[in-house]
Amino acid sequence: MSVSRAENFKMDVLIENGMILDEAGAFEGSIGIVGERIVGIFSPESGIEAREKIDASGKLVLPGVIDVHVHMQLPVSGTTSADDFASGSAAAAVGGVTTMIDFATQKKGESLLDTIEKRKAQADPKVAIDYSLHCAITDWSIKTRREMSKVVKGGISSFKLFMAYEDRGWMTDDGALFEVFQESALLDAVAGVHAENPRIIKAFTQKALSTGRRGASLHGLSRPNFSESEAVQRAIYLASLSDARVYIFHMTTREACQIVEEWRSQGYPVAAETCPQFLVLTADVYKRRNGHLFATCPPVRTEDDCAYLWGGLEKGVVQVVSTDHCSFTRKQKDRWKGDFRKIPCGLPGVETLLPLLFTEGLMTGRITSTTLVETLCSNPAKIFGLYPQKGAIQIGSDADLIIIDPGRETKVSARNLHMKSDYSPYEGTALRGFPEITMLRGKVIQRDGEFLGKKGDGKFLKRD
Ligand SMILES: [Zn+2]
Repeated sequence: MSVSRAENFKMDVLIENGMILDEAGAFEGSIGIVGERIVGIFSPESGIEAREKIDASGKLVLPGVIDVHVHMQLPVSGTTSADDFASGSAAAAVGGVTTMIDFATQKKGESLLDTIEKRKAQADPKVAIDYSLHCAITDWSIKTRREMSKVVKGGISSFKLFMAYEDRGWMTDDGALFEVFQESALLDAVAGVHAENPRIIKAFTQKALSTGRRGASLHGLSRPNFSESEAVQRAIYLASLSDARVYIFHMTTREACQIVEEWRSQGYPVAAETCPQFLVLTADVYKRRNGHLFATCPPVRTEDDCAYLWGGLEKGVVQVVSTDHCSFTRKQKDRWKGDFRKIPCGLPGVETLLPLLFTEGLMTGRITSTTLVETLCSNPAKIFGLYPQKGAIQIGSDADLIIIDPGRETKVSARNLHMKSDYSPYEGTALRGFPEITMLRGKVIQRDGEFLGKKGDGKFLKRD
């Protein structure tokens, strides 16, 4: 905790007497803001002058949440994910997310820099919170390799590789994967992977089809746990040969978690994330009449996997919780027409990330408040080169802050959420932790569930 005394100048905003939660712990105090930055952290009742005071007594004050895995307006499965950068970032703000990282996915033959420029042009006029992009490589060549350093110089210091999705033309084979890891290591960039083994999925899909059934529960059955853990093991092994900083996107299984734990215990700095759906939902949802609405890749698993992932968060084996937000409407999901192979995969999530972790993690005692802040704020900022501008309550950090009334409960209903999905996987669940106020660089962009920000006010963040 850093408490300073800077009474000699007047604050624009003072958030007074809240319980401040950051990675160092919890302490009572006030936060002074001038312009877009935090300029002072004071003990309670310090008598600091400010043009505007926000009373946070009895409330929790956290750094704005960083969701490092979202897909706004993503063309996929013959449709486009329902939230664009405007609705997606407004929903994010309501849920306490002030920074998000989306993806710029290379098309065959396309230059990485062009891919990024196109994606920025889609985001910039619409985005209402700060954002960055991961650069997803799908067409490996000498030209692509040469471009990687330019991508990093342009402020995008993370790449994504798909170990699956051969059919979509996104897959990177093991040879290319190894070379990307080598180049990433030279550039000190993060190489993130979607880790699933496509051949195992193919074999299990064939087996599932031979039963004559096509229902949503086969979505889960066609992607067994080891189709993930095998790919996780392979990715880390290949990365370790060139000392690359590898990051596992959306990890879902006990087995993968154990592999990451093993590598980390040997001192290899692999980082991994999971998502709320893998912590609170199980494959039973696929047996429901509307089971296809819950389809994600990888799929949700078992209670044992959920419990292991919660433990992984608390132990620091899993460092980040993101959402993989990729929302669809019921009508879009209906494109599956009863065949699990055709479901547009993805769930709405950016708005409910913090409340789900708050309610199901912190309030149940599965995780501590420190773990909550680490996994949602400081770790994502550190791993992806945004710290301490983002993810921290420190002097000089951006004044991205959220204020939570811990006693306030909200019943989840798609009708009251701001995401474009007309259903919620958590419909009817009572959640705490929706922020009363979300502040982006000193400006209140959400109050009591009402979005007050502005399209285009979000900034593209250059990352180290
Ligand atoms: Zn994703």
